[in-house]
Amino acid sequence: MIYDDFKDYNLELSEDQVRQFELFYEHLIRENEKYNLTAITQHEEVIIKHFLDSILCLSLGYDFKKSKIIDIGTGAGFPAIPLKIMVPDCHVTCLDALNKRVNFLKLSADVLKLSDMTYIHGRAEDFGQNSKYREVYDFAVSRAVAELRLLLEYVMPFVKPGGFFIAYKSLKSDDELNDAQNSIRLMQCELVKNVNIVLPKGYGTRDLLVFRKIGHISNKYPRKPGIPKKAPL
Ligand code: SAM
Repeated sequence: MIYDDFKDYNLELSEDQVRQFELFYEHLIRENEKYNLTAITQHEEVIIKHFLDSILCLSLGYDFKKSKIIDIGTGAGFPAIPLKIMVPDCHVTCLDALNKRVNFLKLSADVLKLSDMTYIHGRAEDFGQNSKYREVYDFAVSRAVAELRLLLEYVMPFVKPGGFFIAYKSLKSDDELNDAQNSIRLMQCELVKNVNIVLPKGYGTRDLLVFRKIGHISNKYPRKPGIPKKAPL
């Protein structure tokens, strides 16, 4: 069974978790056309490239139990939903600028019976300035949203000092890291892990970059929507 490959990454799934992933797969494919969610639809590919990929951060040795996690630019729920399936007692906040995708996530939570979730329709630049969400998360994750120097300004305002941001990168992460040195400094964080992981069955590789927040960020950041992209730090 395809889920047996997860063991190679120290990820053990219960029968219930396998059932939930299969339910999520069916739901994703059923709603894909209506919500325009993913170009990947073949079963094995979804399981590896979306589900396994999303939960790789759980093999890095951090304790996610009962933690507060935010996924910035979650889209169809990656990595948020697979993380919630694997760590049911964590609180997960899903943020995305597209309301259609946020609606799909609310529907998914009903189908999968996921509780203790928060859904935000909006831009990271706006909600990073909102005291309800600023510097309150133990972990932030983000996959396929923006280049690193930009992404740090989107994400780090949500992370509390001492917390972590895990950036999922598949391409040119070394180049992005070089370009992000100023952003790393201004966003009060340090790179603590840079792990390259090979996905099974030739589905490529993934770099997980882990940043630890070491202090408070100036209230200037994040800047207004669109500015980080126009004038990256
Ligand atoms: N993380 C998902 C994944 O890996 O499948 C979705 C990736 S999709 C390519 C990028 C998502 O980020 C889109 O759903 C988009 O709406 C969202 N996004 C991009 N910039 C954003 C911003 N500034 N604030 C909130 N969401 C943003």
